[in-house]
Amino acid sequence: MKIKLLPSTIDEAGRLSPEQRLSCFVVDGRVCIDAGSIAIGLRDDERERVRDVIVTHPHMDHVATLPIFVDDLFGFLEEPVRIHATEEVCGLLARDVFNGTVYPPFQNFDNGRTRVMQFVPFREGEEFAVAHLRVKAVAVTHIVPTVGLVINDGERTVGFSSDTSATDEFWHVVNREPRLDALLIEASFPNSLKKLADVSGHLTPEGLGSELGKLTHADVEVLAMHLKPSFRLQLIEELKALGVPRLSAMEPGREYEW
Ligand SMILES: [Zn+2]
Ligand SMILES: [Zn+2]
Repeated sequence: MKIKLLPSTIDEAGRLSPEQRLSCFVVDGRVCIDAGSIAIGLRDDERERVRDVIVTHPHMDHVATLPIFVDDLFGFLEEPVRIHATEEVCGLLARDVFNGTVYPPFQNFDNGRTRVMQFVPFREGEEFAVAHLRVKAVAVTHIVPTVGLVINDGERTVGFSSDTSATDEFWHVVNREPRLDALLIEASFPNSLKKLADVSGHLTPEGLGSELGKLTHADVEVLAMHLKPSFRLQLIEELKALGVPRLSAMEPGREYEW
């Protein structure tokens, strides 16, 4: 399985920056997890192929350019862009984003050949299919309804925490998997901002360290993501200080493979 975090920031010289402001992860070039930078970060061949987007929660950094992505493809689609999310999150996206004011209700539109966008609700705790992947979604601990994911391509298994503070059910589900090849887990704020992390439903590197204490799989590659850009370097230092083997900060633009 290949996973790439799309870059979302351009530095002052016009180059892609490692700072991550928006969240969008491309799996095997054809499924996106969250859609923050989906309209700006995909290569053309990926834009041709991605028709399935799993939305873990409706925060702006996770859905910011999703409406633009559907808009760009509007006249070309031969099948809908499928938005996989809990019933609740589908409802929030319809109410707050695709509502005819912020952007058109693409879920009600077709282009003469196909509907252009379709909500495909899933239930927490039940396995479902997205393109070639089998996916399980688990409620995590954030300030809006949010799921973490366990994804399997038939061979490899990857856990994805999404945005969360300390949580338990996610780890039970991950630990029940027969194997775990990689874990993407958030680390938003430095250790000194633990209070802010707690009230906003996020983790610090130390919090990430305690969460990893709940993991029973050994020898898993751990990628820290959702590093708030203004603290990126400090977060990387604090992650290193944990001394956890095979833990690193996920680099935007790099394709990881397991
Ligand atoms: Zn969030
Ligand atoms: Zn976020």
